[in-house]
Amino acid sequence: MYSASVSETVDLLLRGARLPDRQSLADIAITGDRIVAVDPVARPAQQTLELGGRLVTPGLVEAHIHLDKALLTDRVTVSAGTLDEALRVTAQAKRTFTAEDITSRARQVLDLAVRAGTTAMRTYVEVDPIVGLMGMEAMLALRQEYAPALDLQLCAFAQEGIVKAPGTEGLLRRALTMGADLVGGCPYNDTDGVEHIRIVFGLATAFGVDADFHVDFADEPEHLHVREIAAQTVRAGWQGRVSVGHLTELGIPSSKEQVSLQLQFALPFANVVVILLGIPFAYRSLQKGNVQSIAYACGATFLYWGTVSVFQSYGEQGFFPAWVSAWTPNFIFGIMAVWLLQRTTKI
Ligand SMILES: [Zn+2]
Repeated sequence: MYSASVSETVDLLLRGARLPDRQSLADIAITGDRIVAVDPVARPAQQTLELGGRLVTPGLVEAHIHLDKALLTDRVTVSAGTLDEALRVTAQAKRTFTAEDITSRARQVLDLAVRAGTTAMRTYVEVDPIVGLMGMEAMLALRQEYAPALDLQLCAFAQEGIVKAPGTEGLLRRALTMGADLVGGCPYNDTDGVEHIRIVFGLATAFGVDADFHVDFADEPEHLHVREIAAQTVRAGWQGRVSVGHLTELGIPSSKEQVSLQLQFALPFANVVVILLGIPFAYRSLQKGNVQSIAYACGATFLYWGTVSVFQSYGEQGFFPAWVSAWTPNFIFGIMAVWLLQRTTKI
């Protein structure tokens, strides 16, 4: 970057570009597939485009789209407006899909996206006993066709469940063998969400690909599968390779669930607090004898866990916000430990 000399002829010069991070207009010099200079300096170029102050930004990224189910609104009738209805009518519409139909609708969306500046896209491709691998075959061809303009990532996706739709696991495996970039699941739409998640992780680790879940997509906190996904991510060592979408249930869990979620993060700090509390007592035991200090240390630890339990109980009943309920004991005893430490070191 910024390495081209002023006299060097570049392939393309974008003159008068507006950039997000600077006030004045700049010229962008490009050679091959690289930006070689960004400055207001005139230089020779094979081709020059006068932008007249138009904005130049990195390409846009569409991180979540369903090209195979796009542009269906004129084929389905919706009355209740619920998630269940959306799943049902879409599954019905899916039974009429053909490869040409999927390709034609997906192409319309891809053209719109490229025209709007999208250069990268992750699409979920439904793989199940209803459509088989029809969508995957269509999308693999489109991924190649649109490669000059857009990086299209294909997620082999179990929208209709895996446990309740026998044969889906084998189809997902075949989709990954055919060239799907990653694998995705939808545990809320299965009879055994945990097993569904386990199968998706099994495929992700077997093929060495990322995993992506549609999860906890409801108006009631019925599932909170995100916890199981987090646990299995750690178990598989797949940190940084798993994404989740929707998560609307996180906005409305009960007080009990909220406290429990907060405690998942707050309780590991208990170790720090207990160790901090232990240091002054250990120091004291050197000076004043063991028995009394051990009694104090045990008392402080019991008091800490007692406080955690009281705050948890009040938080679950809605007397405090969840974060207050989960973090206050750490806060109080943390301050107490620091105070004791200071006092002990002054003795
Ligand atoms: Zn989706």
